[in-house]
Amino acid sequence: MTACVKTDREALLPVRETLTNPANRHRFIHIILKKLGMYEELGTCLLATNEKGWEENMDRHEKIDNLIRLYRYNIQTATAYVDANGFCAYCGEDVFASEGGFCSAQIDHLFPQSIYPDLKNDPLNCVYSCFRCNQLKRSLDPKELFVSSDITAKDPRTVLTRYRNDLISSFRLRFAPIRAKDKETYHETVSLLRSQ
Ligand SMILES: [Zn+2]
Repeated sequence: MTACVKTDREALLPVRETLTNPANRHRFIHIILKKLGMYEELGTCLLATNEKGWEENMDRHEKIDNLIRLYRYNIQTATAYVDANGFCAYCGEDVFASEGGFCSAQIDHLFPQSIYPDLKNDPLNCVYSCFRCNQLKRSLDPKELFVSSDITAKDPRTVLTRYRNDLISSFRLRFAPIRAKDKETYHETVSLLRSQ
């Protein structure tokens, strides 16, 4: 009997771990409400307690669910795709504008997974990036980049929760001149090779 209880608890451990992540917790509630047929009814009640608004999040979660269910994306990738809506988090390029851009786009880990393996599957640590920006980012550690900043003195999970947008903006500013130079080189090369 005791053994059975222990096994059940052990089986629940991964679920508990998953639910410590706010994004996963929200999605879990969404799924349960849907299964219970109480989605619309309770959604209205939850509206007041939800920062972004229930309707907005409902649409977001529907899209994330569809990507996972229909195309077998994992939750990190699906979340990053939906939140970015096809635009690179760093250079702002519309990655969905061409098939080549879409196929070469990648999920970048703000805190590199090679250094912070615990954050590998955290949706907050994942951003949608074009191939070139991901090349520039590589395993650049935010803590090395912003040595003097208060932000980097904090725990990485706290940074992601409170300063995620600041972190993305800082990387964007750092990559901007390089991306501008890329664009210049691209136009000059095309012009040189294809001019009549
Ligand atoms: Zn980019």
